[in-house]
Amino acid sequence: MRLALSYLDQLTAGRLTFRERMSGGPRWLRSSLCATESARTRLREWFEHHPQPWAMQNSGEVLIALHFVGDIPLHQLLAKTLALLPPPVTDHVLKSTTFAGVGSRIMGFTGARPALGDRPFFVALSAADTLTRTIELMLHEVSHVWLMPAPEPDQVAGEAFYAETLYGTPLKEVPPNAVDNVVAARKTMREHERTAKNLTRDWCAQISAQNGDKK
Ligand SMILES: [Zn+2]
Repeated sequence: MRLALSYLDQLTAGRLTFRERMSGGPRWLRSSLCATESARTRLREWFEHHPQPWAMQNSGEVLIALHFVGDIPLHQLLAKTLALLPPPVTDHVLKSTTFAGVGSRIMGFTGARPALGDRPFFVALSAADTLTRTIELMLHEVSHVWLMPAPEPDQVAGEAFYAETLYGTPLKEVPPNAVDNVVAARKTMREHERTAKNLTRDWCAQISAQNGDKK
């Protein structure tokens, strides 16, 4: 555990050579996984509570622990995908996130409102046009959950329209007294997207390598 923490410090400070990076910690501990303060705090806490060996989760256990509403094939695919991720990420996502997904077997559904529970993150998923792109979409959203600070316990989203207004409205249509806040929010969003894309790319490479190992 101490070894992993000192490795994490050195990795974060950019003090490791390529050779050290390849041989120092668990294979999944890459700099893209430590790209934000929230992620580093989560990693540090996880290492403090999880001595070696750092086993990957079993996808059946992930399926049971996952809080998911909607399409069963997407639920199963998400569980399999999460089981391939670094164990601290899988643990964090299972504890902190509720997912909803449609577009694989069912396109929509009607019923009583689902029990959304009190996990701070909510992720909406749809089935993309290919399996690979659906997995990439899952990885991208999960990378946000890993990298972003958790919403406050009482923080709820009003409606998607708010985000669309914030990020999509041409600046000349934004009221002058809101421009500074909108520009700052867009800068933060671009940074979130940049770090999430880096992490998703690394996870795709790791999953391909794991699948290659099995063949
Ligand atoms: Zn994104």
